[in-house]
Amino acid sequence: VSPAAAFLAEHAWLGPELGVADDVLISVEGDRISEVRPNAGPGAGGTGDGERTSLPGLTLPGLVNGHSHAFHRALRGRSEAGRGDFWTWRSLMYGVAARLEPDTYLELATAVYAEMALAGITAVAEFHYLHHGPDGRPYADPNTMAASLIEAAKRAGVRITLLDTCYLRGGLDGRALEGAQVRFADGGGEEWARRVDSLREQVKGSKPAHARIGAAIHSVRAVPPEAMKTVATYAARHELPLHVHLSEQRRENEESLAIEGCSPTELLRRAGALTSHTTCVHATHLLPHDITELGLASATICACPTTERDLADGVGPFADLVDAGCPLSIGTDSHAVIDPFEEMRGIELNERLVRYERGLHDAESLLTAGTAGGARSIGWPETGAIKEGSLADLVTLDLDSPRLAGTSPDAAAAVYAAAAADVRYVVVGGEMVVDDRVHARIEDVGRHLADAISTLVGQ
Ligand SMILES: [Zn+2]
Repeated sequence: VSPAAAFLAEHAWLGPELGVADDVLISVEGDRISEVRPNAGPGAGGTGDGERTSLPGLTLPGLVNGHSHAFHRALRGRSEAGRGDFWTWRSLMYGVAARLEPDTYLELATAVYAEMALAGITAVAEFHYLHHGPDGRPYADPNTMAASLIEAAKRAGVRITLLDTCYLRGGLDGRALEGAQVRFADGGGEEWARRVDSLREQVKGSKPAHARIGAAIHSVRAVPPEAMKTVATYAARHELPLHVHLSEQRRENEESLAIEGCSPTELLRRAGALTSHTTCVHATHLLPHDITELGLASATICACPTTERDLADGVGPFADLVDAGCPLSIGTDSHAVIDPFEEMRGIELNERLVRYERGLHDAESLLTAGTAGGARSIGWPETGAIKEGSLADLVTLDLDSPRLAGTSPDAAAAVYAAAAADVRYVVVGGEMVVDDRVHARIEDVGRHLADAISTLVGQ
């Protein structure tokens, strides 16, 4: 990382209050923004500018992907066209899960995170549960798969929060894990905590600037109430973000009601797992009371609209959740699409289809969900905004692309007109990771993806 640098953004979005400013000089010291000065174009004078890297177009804070399962990328184009539902898709996904090893996962995840970087994503939360060997036995280092993911993010130049996920059983009725699922499980909540202790020690020892650890409960299906309590307590004690899949499918609600006598949201609340450090992923099928509880807790809701429509999940009540007090974030989840712009507008556009109403979320709020909202939710609160003191994570859109040509440089254009293909520059911690649409470290991301995927699924 260069000690001092400066970027001159033709236009930059400085957050929902300030909106877009022109000729914004963004000075960087180390990996942080030291100054943000609008109207600093050529001839504007100023002192100590040194060398400026021009960022022509509209510069945004780095986009945050709040929910990823990197290995699902191997299913793109192989699973969308068939008949069935979430559960038939899940059995295809388990086929890939069964074949991954630390070396093949490193290759695949590096390519997937590089695809994210090209799409403008500078930080990702990886919801990781492929802990052990395919037969369920731990590797010599029980966190070797997590280490692969952390290394992959480093190679791809993106920040990562490794959400170490507790996954213990096959369903609310207590049935055992089977097939590919056996590699997800630790012996119980305490065993999960001991393994995460050692992962946190490993990460602390190597002090990676790009990686942090978080905790996750896979779902109320996969973790019994006592163990949910253990994970929630652990996350609170160590100040880790806590993520959980919530009510993605009706079946989860039905089983929860039949077996536990309450909704999944209520189960989480009873386990102490609903706080302002909690992020609930999907939150699709909620009762009015659930929305109130999530709002009271100020839990973040991570919407994954492209996955939710691909898997026939349904449309979550995101506008009502916001009204109740929940911040939003976005996730590309199954990676049927890796395009944060499509996710941001998907929140609003999917909801229009079921509410027959437009403008439920304004563009500034959607852009905040894709940046600062996600950053806070994954435990990187110092990214996601272009302001003094923030990490220098920037994304610049090409306003001359066929999609953006003729639009105004503002939040509405970024959210409703832009696509991942319009990302021209990506800066992470002051360092150029994508330069004029080319990944600076991984020469041919498409080829890297193809090679990694063909190893797993054949041609
Ligand atoms: Zn997920």
